[in-house]
Amino acid sequence: MAAATLSPARPAAVSTSGVDSTLHRSSIRPTLPRLFQHRASSLRAQSLSSTDSAKALSNDTFSELNEGIAHFYDSSSGVWEDIWGEHMHHGYYDPGLPLQAAFSVNHGDAQVRMIEESLKWAEIPEEVDSRPQRIIDVGCGIGGSSRHLARKYGAEVIGITLSPRQAQRATSITSAAGLSSKVSFQVADALNQPFPDSHFDFVWSMESGEHMPDKQKFMAELVRVTRPGGRILIVTWCHRELLAGEESLKPNEEELLKRICDAYYLPAWCPASKYTSLAHSMGLQDVKSDDWTQYITLFWPAVILSAFSFRGISGLFKSGWTTIKGALAMYYMVKGYNSGLIKFALITARKPILES
Ligand code: SAH
Repeated sequence: MAAATLSPARPAAVSTSGVDSTLHRSSIRPTLPRLFQHRASSLRAQSLSSTDSAKALSNDTFSELNEGIAHFYDSSSGVWEDIWGEHMHHGYYDPGLPLQAAFSVNHGDAQVRMIEESLKWAEIPEEVDSRPQRIIDVGCGIGGSSRHLARKYGAEVIGITLSPRQAQRATSITSAAGLSSKVSFQVADALNQPFPDSHFDFVWSMESGEHMPDKQKFMAELVRVTRPGGRILIVTWCHRELLAGEESLKPNEEELLKRICDAYYLPAWCPASKYTSLAHSMGLQDVKSDDWTQYITLFWPAVILSAFSFRGISGLFKSGWTTIKGALAMYYMVKGYNSGLIKFALITARKPILES
């Protein structure tokens, strides 16, 4: 079967023939200026320990990382949307499917299923009187989850991203979908959010936690903006838990993560237990985490195949080196998952209701 058939069916609301169909294409920038490329790689060199290196990173380093992330998504989101649609996250597949299933399953449906299964796992209430009404989508991409959550719960959703192109594109898709009164987007840093305390009753972070250079600050901000009784759900890439007697990952594991960090603008990785211990230390309740690696193994092989389609190859070349480097790193993701180094983790918790 042709690799082009791997492209998941794209929901009508995000058709690139919609209102602002050319925005993401015309916005593609070629490559980073040379000076910034140098700064970005020295940043990654500093931040590449698999264990928590946030303490060693300065605010300047954080903002360099943020610039790199913004550039990465500014340049790569168009080609991703062209091939994969509005969701920039893993799909959820039945475990144990053979690799050939990557040709036949609908990956768009699998991505929506990931959202639905995550919400179910986190026990987000669906009843009209208790479902979330004000939601933040932290690291919103082009707003696929934001719109899904708004429709599902009838909620108001604000999405934040570091990428101005993503915020623009998310806004125009949302307007074409008739959801502008409910869903909006801003360029804002998850570590320093422009929202008052206790503003949201559900905090959703789908595959953005891995970009956060200071997990403690990240969690603290999520907790701050959650209302008492509200819930937090983080779905993120982690590395495996260290075994008894281990103080760090093995050198070859560190090396593999380093290559991924380099391509995807990621700071140090952490295990899922880092999030749960932070959640406990912040007094959160109903803290739980899970490893869903077995449900996502079909995803990266499918992304690799779609990159070899005509649209994939031409899109990559149009998007520039940053995106091509990201595509080349897909192989490392597969290797990381297959070797047990990379874990697809979910973490959820509830902010306690204050006793009077
Ligand atoms: N959740 C989206 C997109 C995932 S891609 C989806 O599932 O479709 C990762 C997203 O995290 C990008 O939108 C990127 O801009 C955002 N991100 C990374 N670091 C961030 C930060 N510090 N503050 C806000 N957004 C951030």
